[in-house]
Amino acid sequence: MVGVISPTVLHDWLVPGRNLFLAIHVLGIAAFAYIVARRLTPLARAQRDFRFDRPLTRLKRVFKYWLGQWKHPRYKFAGIMHILIFAGFILLAQRAFAVLLLGTEHFPLTGLSGEVGHLYDIVTDYAATIVFLCMIVAAVRRLVFKPARYAVPAKFGKSHTADAVFLLGLIAILMAADSLFAASKTAGSVLRDQPVESLAYFSLPWILQSLIASSSLATLWALNLTAFLVHEITFYFLLCYRPFGIQFHVETSLFSVYFAKLDKGTVKPVRWGVADENLDQVRSFGVKVFEDFTWKHMLDFYSCADCGRCADNCPANAAGRPLAPRFLSIKARDYAFEHYPVFGKADNGKPLIGNIYSEDEIWSCTTCGACEEECPLLIEYIDKIVDLRRGMIDDGNVPQSLQKPLKALESRGNPYGKMEKKKADWAKAKDFQQTCSIKVLDGKNRGAETLYFVDSITSYDDRMQSIGRATARILDHAGENFAILGAAEKDSGHEVRRFGEEMLFQSLREQNTEAIKESGVQRIVTADPHAYNALKHDYKDIPPVEHISQLIAREVKAGKIEFKPVENKGNVYAYHDPCYLGRHNEVYDDPRAVLDAIPGLNRIEMRRSRDRSFCCGGGGLMLFYEPKEEERMGVLRVKMAAEAGANVIVTACPFCMVNIEDAIKVAGLEGKMSAIDLTELVDQQIARKAPENSEAPKLEPATCGG
Ligand code: SF4
Ligand code: SF4
Repeated sequence: MVGVISPTVLHDWLVPGRNLFLAIHVLGIAAFAYIVARRLTPLARAQRDFRFDRPLTRLKRVFKYWLGQWKHPRYKFAGIMHILIFAGFILLAQRAFAVLLLGTEHFPLTGLSGEVGHLYDIVTDYAATIVFLCMIVAAVRRLVFKPARYAVPAKFGKSHTADAVFLLGLIAILMAADSLFAASKTAGSVLRDQPVESLAYFSLPWILQSLIASSSLATLWALNLTAFLVHEITFYFLLCYRPFGIQFHVETSLFSVYFAKLDKGTVKPVRWGVADENLDQVRSFGVKVFEDFTWKHMLDFYSCADCGRCADNCPANAAGRPLAPRFLSIKARDYAFEHYPVFGKADNGKPLIGNIYSEDEIWSCTTCGACEEECPLLIEYIDKIVDLRRGMIDDGNVPQSLQKPLKALESRGNPYGKMEKKKADWAKAKDFQQTCSIKVLDGKNRGAETLYFVDSITSYDDRMQSIGRATARILDHAGENFAILGAAEKDSGHEVRRFGEEMLFQSLREQNTEAIKESGVQRIVTADPHAYNALKHDYKDIPPVEHISQLIAREVKAGKIEFKPVENKGNVYAYHDPCYLGRHNEVYDDPRAVLDAIPGLNRIEMRRSRDRSFCCGGGGLMLFYEPKEEERMGVLRVKMAAEAGANVIVTACPFCMVNIEDAIKVAGLEGKMSAIDLTELVDQQIARKAPENSEAPKLEPATCGG
C-alpha cells in the first residue's frame, strides 16, 4: 500500500478533499473526547479506591488477561471467536490509522514497507477477512441460535441485542470498506500496469479484487474513494457510538483489568483511606446511591461486555433466585447513562435499592466468587454486593430471618445463641474423651504450638461436631502439639463481614485476635474454609493459618499418615470444592491428593469442579436466610454428583456438609447417596498401628496433642 495517492488531492468534492477529511478528523476526535469526558463525570464524583499499588503485577495481568485473552477459551466457541476478533483489531490498528491518515496529506503510509510491509499487508488482509466473518457468525448466533446466556429475563430489564447486532454490523462495514479500498487500489494499479504486490489469496480484499478487476479505471477510482470515505466515517461513528452501549468496553476494559482487585478472598474496606479505628467518623456506610460506588466499580459497569458468563456460572441464578451478576452491571450502567447523560444535566442521588436493585437480589448472593472467576475482564461483584448490604444494614434494613442470629452473634459470639461456656462441649463426648482429651488455652493454660480454630458451626451443630472430633484425632495422629481456645473463641466473623455487618465483624475479630495472641501459639489450623479465609485475609498480626486438608496432604507426603484400603469398593467418590477453600484460596490439589492416597478409593470429577465448582448455598449467612428460589443450590449440586456417577460426596467444609446432606434428602437420594467430610473420611481410613501381640486397636493417648 506504499505510495498511495491521498484523496486530499481531489478537488471534485463539494469542498476540497483536504478540508473535508481534516474536518472529519477534527470533528470525530472532538466528539469522542467530549463523550468520554461526559461518561467519566460520575467517576469523578465516586468514592475513592486505592488501585495504584503493585504496578508490575498489574501490568503482568494486563498481558495475561487483556492482551493474552486468558479466560476466553473457558467458553470454547465464543472464546476463540473473541480471540480472533481481538487479534484482528490489534493487527489492523496500524493499517486502520494509516488509511485514516491518507485523508490528511500526501501521506506515505506509515511504518512498514518492503518485504515486511508486504507481509504485514498479507497478514492484515486475512485479519480483516477473519474479523468480517466473525461479525457475521456473531450476528447469526445472536439472532438465530440465541445462546441462553445472552437472554434477558423480563425481571432484569430490556435486551441489548439490537445494540450488539448494530455494532457488529458497523465493524463488518469497516472491514468491508478497508478491504474494498485495498482491492480497488490493487485493481487500479494492475490496470495501469504499475508494479503491484498481490493481495492475500482468498482473503476478502482478494475476492473483491477478483470481482472488480474488469471494471474501468474511473469505476475503480470511484470505488476506491467511496471505500475510503465509508471507512473514515464508519471509524469515527463507531468510535463515538461505542460509549453509548456495551462496546464501550473496548475503551475501558484495559483499565478495568489493570486496576482489577489483586487479592482474592478479601473484602474491600468500608471506605478506602479510613482506618478501622476511625470508622465511627464515617457518616454513612456502604453503597446507597450510585455515587457511593468507587470509581473502579463504576469503571467495571462500563467495561462489562454483557457476555453473560458470570450469570451462566452463578449458582444463585441457576437456582432461580432473583440475582444474575451480569445485570448488576448492566442495570448500573444503564442508570449511569440515564442519570449522567452525554447531553443534558446530571440528575443523581436516587437510592439504588428499590429503584434498580431489589433487596432479595442483593441478599441472594452466597459470595461464592464463581462470577468473578469466570469474567474475562476481571469484573468484581462480591465487594459491590457487600457494599450494597452495608448500605442496607446501615439503614436498619435486615431480613427478618437474620435478625436473630445477628443479635446472638453480638451477645454470645455465635449465631446460634448458645452459651459460650458450651463452646468446647463437642470435645467432651464420652467415647471421644476416652481417646482424646483436648487441651483448652484459656489464659492460664499455654504451651501449645498449634491452635485448632473450630468456629461456631463445628462447635455447636450436633452433626458438625463430628468434624471437630475427626480433626482433633488427625492432628493428634500427626503428632501436632495443639489445643483449642474453648469459650475464648468467638465466631470468626467471616459470614458477618460478607453480610455487611462490619462493626460486628470488627468486634469479633478483636476478641479473637486478643485470645489468639494471648494463647502464644505459633500456627493455626482449621477445618472450616470460612474461618480459614477470615483468619488468612480478614485478620492481621496473627500466626499463619492452614486448612486441615493442607496439613493432611503434607503429612501423607511425608509418610506420617498412612491409610488402610476403603472397605466398600463399590463406592464412587466425588470431591466438592468448597468456594472458600477452592476459588477464594486456590486449594484444589491437596484434598484431591489426600483422597487419591487412600488405597482403593475410586474418585471421579463432577462436571463443575475446581475453579468452576458449584456453590452448595451455604456462604454469606445463607444458612439462616431463605431466599426465593426455584430449586435449592444444594439439590442442584447433588444432582451433578449423581450425573457424574458418584454415590459419595466428599467435602471439606461444615457449611457444605449441612447443605449437601440436607439436599440429598430433598432430592430423594437418601440411601443412594451420602456425604462425608474429608476429615471424617481421613480419620476413618487412617492406618493406626495395633499394639504388639494384640489384635485390639491401640488407644490414642488420653491427652490429644501432647
Ligand atoms: S458471588 Fe456467587 S452467588 Fe454471588 S453473584 Fe457471584 S456467582 Fe452469584
Ligand atoms: S461481568 Fe464479565 S462475565 Fe459478566 S457479563 Fe460482564 S463481561 Fe461478561
